[in-house]
Amino acid sequence: VRYLTKYDQEVGALVSAETQRQRRTLSLIPSENYSSKAVQLALATSYTNKYAEGYPYLWSNGSREEQQSGRYYRGQEHTNELELLAIRRALQLFTPNPGDYHANVQPLSGAPANLAVLSAFLKPGDTFLGLALDYGGHLTHGHNVNITGHYYNAVQYRLNESYELDYEEIRRLAKQHSPKLIICGATAYPLQISFRQLGAIARETGALLVADIAHICGLCVTGYHEHPFPHADIVTTTTHKILRGPRAGLIVCKKPYGAAIDRAVFPGLQGGPHMNTIAAMAVALKEAMSPDYKLYAGQVVRNAKLLSEMLKAEGFKLMGGRTDNHLLLLDVVGSANGLSAKNGNWLAKRWETAGIVANKNAIPGDTKPWYPSGVRLGTPAITTIGMKDQDMANVAEWIIRATRHAENEAELQRVRDEIEQFMGRFPSEPFYV
Ligand code: PLP
Repeated sequence: VRYLTKYDQEVGALVSAETQRQRRTLSLIPSENYSSKAVQLALATSYTNKYAEGYPYLWSNGSREEQQSGRYYRGQEHTNELELLAIRRALQLFTPNPGDYHANVQPLSGAPANLAVLSAFLKPGDTFLGLALDYGGHLTHGHNVNITGHYYNAVQYRLNESYELDYEEIRRLAKQHSPKLIICGATAYPLQISFRQLGAIARETGALLVADIAHICGLCVTGYHEHPFPHADIVTTTTHKILRGPRAGLIVCKKPYGAAIDRAVFPGLQGGPHMNTIAAMAVALKEAMSPDYKLYAGQVVRNAKLLSEMLKAEGFKLMGGRTDNHLLLLDVVGSANGLSAKNGNWLAKRWETAGIVANKNAIPGDTKPWYPSGVRLGTPAITTIGMKDQDMANVAEWIIRATRHAENEAELQRVRDEIEQFMGRFPSEPFYV
């Protein structure tokens, strides 16, 4: 960053400022993380200069011909090798038997990956099932402000009164609407998802099952969450959340769906792949295969469970009543013991003053998306820094103080100072720039 600052003072200063913000505050946004130095270095390489439209192979009679390059421009000997390496790693990490699966590492992010899958198998107006946004689903699972909600006939399923997936209700909807595809996975769901049960529903009703595991992919590949394969036909994920890679998307599917997925990503939706991002993704995939990553994933879950138990004991209302994964969804309007807030937007802002960075989140029944009743918290980022079981008491205490004293500026400043000092104790590796 010294070079950058000398070269471009304004951008350099903004990079340093952001790094310092990340270094000094507590990142509890469950979809955020700190990528390794190696991932960041791979992003900042000469691959950013290279156009590589197409694939490093050609499709012929439904199988990939790796002897023949399917690129549109010349100069691809290294991009081909790099993309094939990333694909091999993705298959090794995400599938029980790489020979039976196909991976596309080109989606620019999670939303384009989901749209690519829908556009590969659905025509405009076709029906699919997805979890409603205010019940933890993602915008791209058929919300009406997203293209997936108005281009297709998106039937939205909801959770039951206990904020749990209701498999019988999903089965009923699938039988009623005969969707071509069912998408499962969530952005704010603290419990386990039964891919086995969803797979059974999809097979009974003739639908494809797509599992969007953006939030939990790291738990699925380390055994801390049920694996979507072989129950799902197609898996989509982002690589920048719990996986700690670059901002990107990834699609892994059973082999027969590979050609359609590839066509949908390019030329269907995208142009040239971001080869520097693919390089960084390959690094992150390798990291995620290491024993250290498995320890990390286990600690993420333990930290989330501890934090949720401590917050619940103090009076916070947890959606779902507990957490089984990396995230907690708090109903901050419905919380008790002096922990009830005006709304999630207001509380997340007050927390930010105290150095606690989280995000407001809709919960069932919310009518104003900008002022929802929930706040979503997660442990992937703080676990990367090195926080363990014993640190969760501190984190819980800061959250409780910043909520009970949300209107007391001096107390929020005290919490902020304590967090900054605490953060200083952890290694600076993810904050190297
Ligand atoms: N799918 C899920 C479940 C997500 O939570 C998100 C992002 O939060 C996405 C897809 C979209 O990913 P991106 O923001 O990379 O487009």
